[in-house]
Amino acid sequence: MLRRLKRGLYRHRWLLMRRIVQISILLAFTVHIPGYGKIADGNLSSSLWFGELKLTDPFILLQSFLAGSSIALPALLGAILVGGFYAFFAGRLYCSWVCPINLLTDLAYWLRKKLKIKGNMSLSRSLRLWILALALALSLFGGTLAWEMVNPITRFQRELIWFSFSGAMLLGALFLFDLFVSRRAWCGHLCPVGAFYGLIGRYGRLKVTATPSESCDASGCSRCMTVCPEPHVLAPVVSKQAQAVTSVDCTRCGACLDECHEGALSMKLDLVGMVTRKVDE
Ligand code: SF4
Ligand code: SF4
Repeated sequence: MLRRLKRGLYRHRWLLMRRIVQISILLAFTVHIPGYGKIADGNLSSSLWFGELKLTDPFILLQSFLAGSSIALPALLGAILVGGFYAFFAGRLYCSWVCPINLLTDLAYWLRKKLKIKGNMSLSRSLRLWILALALALSLFGGTLAWEMVNPITRFQRELIWFSFSGAMLLGALFLFDLFVSRRAWCGHLCPVGAFYGLIGRYGRLKVTATPSESCDASGCSRCMTVCPEPHVLAPVVSKQAQAVTSVDCTRCGACLDECHEGALSMKLDLVGMVTRKVDE
């Protein structure tokens, strides 16, 4: 019994770690610790941690700048800190470890599989880049934080504290669209925030890396691709054309590592580009 539990936990280790981090971040904004207060004030767009550390979403800052707002130095430093973390280290990790909407869209995908829903409206992955460009253009010409008017990420956080009918409708529509209309529609095709973090994290050094494994060569099962929220990112690795996932779309969720029972994949820091270089040679 205990062994089965341990095996089950191990098989879902990346998922469990992600959920712990995501929920802890949400709790940091909501739970009031007696004698201390909240660990974080604000929201994921702009927050103050432990009363000292200012963090700013660089996408929000960019919209503010384009809208003509003056940028305060602490907000700028906070955005550099956040942007630098994803740019040099984590890639698009925000989507799977921080963003609360991922809880909702993962649930929709899980339900979709359980209910065996086959219908799938095909959407282009580049749509999110067009929406990103539109949000920035509207900020520039409209003088407002265009995406913030609808951003479901801040809506989600707000809903947890102050329920509103309009917010619940928006999040419900997003969930139902993912569930019934188009597979992984929001995070995989539409969200400009994910697209933004993918772009700035293009050279993030944390990568899913293939460990040479005979068992993987022999079976060629591609199970990792069946669980990946962005399966195209794994195709070069599975077909042995690349030794690491280099696509900007990889969210570092670790689902592929949980699924690969052959131990052929690992999450590695590729500080000097050794993995990519080996493939290029
Ligand atoms: S794609 Fe957008 S909504 Fe989805 S997890 Fe990433 S930032 Fe959040
Ligand atoms: S390659 Fe792995 S870590 Fe990257 S998105 Fe796919 S399942 Fe997640």
